[in-house]
Amino acid sequence: MDPEAVVALAERVLAPTYRRPPVLFTHGEGMYVYDASGRRYLDFVAGIAVCALGHADPGVAEVIAAQARRLVHLSNLYHTEPHLRLAEALVAHSFADRVFFCNSGAEAVEAALKFARKFVRTHFDDRKVGFIAFAHSFHGRTMGALSVTEKPAYREPFAPLVPGVTFVPFNDIEAARAAITQETCAVIVEPIQGEGGVHVAAPEFLQALRARCDEVGALLIFDEVQCGLGRTGTLWAYEAYGVEPDLLTVAKPLANGLPIGAVLMREKVAAVLQPGDHGSTFAGGPLVTAVALHVFQRLCEPIFLAHVREMGAYLMDRLHAVELPGVKEIRGRGLLIGLEIEGDARQVVATALERGLLLTTAGDHVVRMVPPLIVERSHIDEAIAILQESMTAQSA
Ligand code: PLP
Repeated sequence: MDPEAVVALAERVLAPTYRRPPVLFTHGEGMYVYDASGRRYLDFVAGIAVCALGHADPGVAEVIAAQARRLVHLSNLYHTEPHLRLAEALVAHSFADRVFFCNSGAEAVEAALKFARKFVRTHFDDRKVGFIAFAHSFHGRTMGALSVTEKPAYREPFAPLVPGVTFVPFNDIEAARAAITQETCAVIVEPIQGEGGVHVAAPEFLQALRARCDEVGALLIFDEVQCGLGRTGTLWAYEAYGVEPDLLTVAKPLANGLPIGAVLMREKVAAVLQPGDHGSTFAGGPLVTAVALHVFQRLCEPIFLAHVREMGAYLMDRLHAVELPGVKEIRGRGLLIGLEIEGDARQVVATALERGLLLTTAGDHVVRMVPPLIVERSHIDEAIAILQESMTAQSA
């Protein structure tokens, strides 16, 4: 299909909820994806922080094929071994005692909010229903997840949302302490905000949230859908803070591109749940969990995480070393990096695409880099060169 035909068909048959460039991608390998004309693009988006092991990974492909021949789906009415083994691995490598599986990040947030409600309903009275979330938060597009997502443009067309949500400035300890009261059910926070502009929580901030939640009997939910699973150089972003949550949401890279989400929780939360409280037809199926177990085992490897830290430091150093016109601030941790710029981030992304580099935005003025975690120095050098050209072209 030529680019005009792609655009014409998309305009005719797709719901117009996304802006896409007029390129038809056909395949990928490692750090690169290819379009229908055979052109190669260096991928610094990774399907929005999903393809941690890159594209067409042979190990992932093998597990998909082998499990597809054995058993793809059975539903949550029955046990299968990959489902159990993945839960066992997640519990063994985290603060959590138990796991609930779902199919996406937004679903993980929905489940976490429901579980928090059930917890307070079981232990407190009906007034304890409030949720605290933060400025620039992003937790997903379904009604519950959207209710704790701050951006007015995402929320307002769909009001009324879940009531009782209070937004507090991110990293403002005093404001958070004041907002979290006896009537708070749960606090939900991304240790490193992704979509909202790549903002890193201060350690004292997360520590203060933990302490205040404990004072008032509220649950603390960390949303690590974007920053978890190795992205920041530790398996979980919370490890760098010395603070553990009561519930943790994960999704994006867990099966390197197959849809999966999960809520990790402490025993005290699991203890209030019973059959029928929540569920999903597809979630935790043997195909996706077999793949996720393979991916998770690789992400957990200390040598893999050390590589992420090394590449993250190298990317940050290179970004600071080169002249990038219009950059106001460079933020992030590991391989979750945001460049706040004076101009329009979408324009930089479009120019970089024309030059063979995939980037994405995190708001109007932030260019986001979330490459596959298998990135090497040579890819970073290549990306920085294209980024520099793109930003220079734009400022000219
Ligand atoms: N939570 C965070 C922190 C996210 O970054 C995202 C997606 O970007 C979500 C939740 C929603 O995930 P999904 O798009 O899989 O529903």
